[in-house]
Amino acid sequence: MSDTGGGHRASAEAIRDAFQSEFGDEYRIFVKDVWKEYTGWPLNDMERSYKFMVRHVQLWKVAFHSTSPRWIHSVYLAAIAAYYAKEVEAGLMEYKPDIIISVHPLMQHIPLWVLKWQGLQKKVVFVTVITDLNTCHRTWFHPGVSRCYCPSEEVAKRSLLDGLEESQVRVFGLPIRPSFCRAVLSKDDLRVELEMDPHLPAVLLMGGGEGMGPVKKTALALGESLLDEGSGKPIGQLIVICGRNKVLASTLEAVDWKIPVKVKGFQTQMEKWMGACDCIITKAGPGTIAEALIRGLPIILNDYIPGQEKGNVPYVVDNGAGVFTRSSKETARLVAEWFSTKTEELKRMSENALKLAQPNAVFDIVKDIHELACQRGPLANIPYMLTSSFTSII
Ligand code: UDP
Repeated sequence: MSDTGGGHRASAEAIRDAFQSEFGDEYRIFVKDVWKEYTGWPLNDMERSYKFMVRHVQLWKVAFHSTSPRWIHSVYLAAIAAYYAKEVEAGLMEYKPDIIISVHPLMQHIPLWVLKWQGLQKKVVFVTVITDLNTCHRTWFHPGVSRCYCPSEEVAKRSLLDGLEESQVRVFGLPIRPSFCRAVLSKDDLRVELEMDPHLPAVLLMGGGEGMGPVKKTALALGESLLDEGSGKPIGQLIVICGRNKVLASTLEAVDWKIPVKVKGFQTQMEKWMGACDCIITKAGPGTIAEALIRGLPIILNDYIPGQEKGNVPYVVDNGAGVFTRSSKETARLVAEWFSTKTEELKRMSENALKLAQPNAVFDIVKDIHELACQRGPLANIPYMLTSSFTSII
């Protein structure tokens, strides 16, 4: 994986936790950024360049679409592979994996070449778990994988068009942390635990792992729209999760709010915050969307990263689980209506969200990987150039 956004790590950790819950000690699991640890520029700097590019969306748009043709990204990745071959090989050899699970669009080609050079392509199970819901980049699709897990039928169709065989493709949904999928949470208890107002309806506002999108503007607009002008009393409460965006958190903490507001930095128990709220406002990040659907939260999408997140908007809106608007004022007005005159609409969207949710996806994925591994024969028995003594997964 790579920490480009928060979604790849969240999916990797979801898979790790599901392996542990399904198979106990049968597997040793390592969540690794092989690029950061074992290669040089530009791969080891991907986090920083990704953050820079998505902040300058036109730049990202050009990069995303211009690298889409297969011959372009293949030539680019082949050049990098040739340059860093030894380092990547050393990285993989350190763990001697029986199974490699990639949850990143740029982590198919190079590891698969390394396995080929090592003569291990038929022995090591290599699978891709796609973490974009619709308009994903074509580097996700590599015909050399044992399986390609697609989160939606739309992505599966794209994978077939890109040359994968039906036997390689499975559609289970996006892997979400087991703590989301299996926990039975009572909203009342959560509100006590999280020190929220027990009665006021609550809106959760966030912008992915990096706190991106128009979070500040939207929070300020909600501060006004959720205050009843006549009585001067709040009609709702606001939770803002800023992720790793510390500047955003400190700016919002300094505001003199007239409604109950909690401003938080990066949270490790997102399932609790989502369980305690009644709707969510977010950029169209696939991880956040899939989690919100599991919790039955109606979604207001207020932004998307061009390319991979564009298709997430119709996925939510066309299925009646939410709306899209870039206007902070419109967002604030919608939430105020949902909390006062249009509660039926909120309820209907919540039901639609639950219909779209796929809480078991992560368990289906790890069970299928386990079956693949069993078909390959006994684990920890792969003749690496160095001696192998344990079962490992990257
Ligand atoms: N997330 C989290 N804590 C935070 C903020 C975000 O665990 O404080 C998680 C969130 O629950 C989701 C992921 O980070 O699983 C964000 O993924 P998404 O695909 O929505 O957006 P990205 O950050 O990858 O652009």
